[in-house]
Amino acid sequence: MEEKLYGGVEAGGTKFICAVGSGDGTIVSRTEIPTTDVGQTLQAVVDFFKQNSAIVSLGIGSFGPVDLNPSSPQFGFITHTPKAGWANTDIKGSLEKSLGVSAVLETDVNCAGIGEKFFGAAQAAHNFVYITVGTGIGGGLIIDGVPYHGAGHLEIGHMRIPHEPLGDGFSGICSFHKDCLEGLASGPAIEARWGIKPQDITAPEVWELEATYIATALNNLVMSVRPELFVIGGGVMNRGGLIEAIRAKLQTSINGYLDLPSLESYVVPASSPDNAVLGAIKLAATTLA
Ligand code: ZN
Repeated sequence: MEEKLYGGVEAGGTKFICAVGSGDGTIVSRTEIPTTDVGQTLQAVVDFFKQNSAIVSLGIGSFGPVDLNPSSPQFGFITHTPKAGWANTDIKGSLEKSLGVSAVLETDVNCAGIGEKFFGAAQAAHNFVYITVGTGIGGGLIIDGVPYHGAGHLEIGHMRIPHEPLGDGFSGICSFHKDCLEGLASGPAIEARWGIKPQDITAPEVWELEATYIATALNNLVMSVRPELFVIGGGVMNRGGLIEAIRAKLQTSINGYLDLPSLESYVVPASSPDNAVLGAIKLAATTLA
């Protein structure tokens, strides 16, 4: 009998990663599509899957917010995103209709967390928090391989944190909250504040401040969720020394109140830039087999 294949999509604000795999952590076909307008982007997704082997079902990990409530009239939609043209997009329904298969929708970060649990850095953790720091900031709590949902998915990137000590008048860039975590510490926030793309910034004070923001968020998550592990991905985390600075500032912030595990094994980098698409395929294979 031929092996069943599943589709995975990581729908990001900059690019879509599409892949076909069997749900065991391997990918048999993969492509990247620039995120443009809804019609053009989703058509390119459909074209990719139609050119490949037939898939049983599709997992989608999308930027959000997304509506994951099956009884909601907007179930399966990207909802209030500030990304131009993408608000109120029925991403699940339109891909199901075009491809003729069932799809399951999750957030991109929750899919990345599933990928890390089954194939990456969190295989030994019963519960952990996955965070991405890139074009946006998002995070999810994964418990025994399943993303936690409250009344909806978590919005870790929009938590409020102390604005910071610089007093330079930077007000933050989140279109909903200005100086939430994402508004202060995402890649575009760094660029807006300093006028240089993050990858070109070497000034140590920039990265000290970035580490302070992320470590403050981790402190709040330690105190509210007490996860066994943090896995941090996203393009901003490619900066050498940043994760070490975050660990040190987290230790300082906790200030001996709790006995944390060794920070090197407690706050770890993501294992693969494909963790979300691998998680999306795994989600399809386990829920829509
Ligand atoms: Zn915000």
